[in-house]
Amino acid sequence: VLPQIPPCDFKPEPYQVRGLYLRVTYYKKPVFINQGYMQWLWDVDGRRYLDLFAGVATVSVGHCNPKVTETAEKQLRRLWHTTAIYVYPQMQEYAEKLASLLPDPLKVVYFTNSGSEANDLAVLMARLYTGNFDVITLRGSYHGGSPQATGLTSNADYKYPIPSSMGCHNTMCPDVFRGLWGGSHCRDSPVQTIRECSCSPDTYQLVREKGGICIADEVQTGFGRTGSHFWGFQGHNVFPDMVTMAKGIANGFPMGAVVTTAEIARSFGKGVHFNTFGGNPLACAVASSVLDTIKEDKMQENSAEVGTYLLTELAKLRDKYEIIGDVRGKGLQIGVEMVKDKASRDPLPPEAMAEIFEDTKDMGVLIGKGGLYGQTFRIKPPMCITKNDADFFLAVFNQAVQNYMERR
Ligand code: PMP
Repeated sequence: VLPQIPPCDFKPEPYQVRGLYLRVTYYKKPVFINQGYMQWLWDVDGRRYLDLFAGVATVSVGHCNPKVTETAEKQLRRLWHTTAIYVYPQMQEYAEKLASLLPDPLKVVYFTNSGSEANDLAVLMARLYTGNFDVITLRGSYHGGSPQATGLTSNADYKYPIPSSMGCHNTMCPDVFRGLWGGSHCRDSPVQTIRECSCSPDTYQLVREKGGICIADEVQTGFGRTGSHFWGFQGHNVFPDMVTMAKGIANGFPMGAVVTTAEIARSFGKGVHFNTFGGNPLACAVASSVLDTIKEDKMQENSAEVGTYLLTELAKLRDKYEIIGDVRGKGLQIGVEMVKDKASRDPLPPEAMAEIFEDTKDMGVLIGKGGLYGQTFRIKPPMCITKNDADFFLAVFNQAVQNYMERR
């Protein structure tokens, strides 16, 4: 049963705000959202959309998920905040719940308000613990928008023509579709980068041999999204020394965390680490309810089931259309890479991407766009979507690609 939608008095004139929002919304006419419920969003005109982007994998268990919302409401009447000097049961309870989901010895939890902050804190701790300064991330990656995290990020769209943080080196992403060498040869690149920056991975091993530690950024991939496992790093025989998380952690309520080992945490104990809002009782209560909801409502299992179905069906579309170059992902973290043609693998130009994107939205489905050339459609829905929703999207996307092919 869908909730009643209160009318929205604010009727924006889209073109007045176009300059401000266009780059953000990607759409010709910005989509003004008025309400959300689970996998659905409604705009100010009452149009309903199936949300397959979820604020970039942020709305993990559904917009205004009733269980999480009820928990938030109760906590709002009890306690919102303290100074960071006191402790309160919600933080204790949540830290224990979260740590129980990570392998030993990842048991010490720090709370932040965002992914950027979590990555900043992780890099600071890594530097203090190892005594090394250089950090290596993958080319094409996004790790946040703070001055430090902009250095970790390797995508010009998110950079400005000023120096970002020092000591950040970006190495080849093992991209088997578009990578320079593709496949297993990508192992050479981190080795080369390590030599180039004379500091410090199979990638983890190499980093450790050089006195480094390994950080897994699970801001998008954590909390059951990849289906087969709770964390993205799992299933690959790697054990990070630190895990950073945010976004889906609290279903869209601002929160982030770093989980690390007691040994690494000790090196951080010399100063006072203070974060006014990090881990406040409301955020912890919401995040705790998100963990319960993922488990009770079998959302990780759903990610595996619906995600695998989507990947299988999208692969059929890839075989049908010359402009769908690659379909990849795991669970409900999916990329559909669009190309001019399969032989050249040249990225589908932005205007063509925009046409398919716009058409998909006009038929009622919101997806994302990304990639170094803006060539990849991104699908990372709330983990409550059903097989029927997937079928609806597949029909819409098929139609949008077909429309484009007929027009060009
Ligand atoms: N890491 C990854 C992988 C992300 O996707 C993001 C956000 N897109 C961040 C870090 C930064 O998180 P936030 O926007 O909460 O600072």
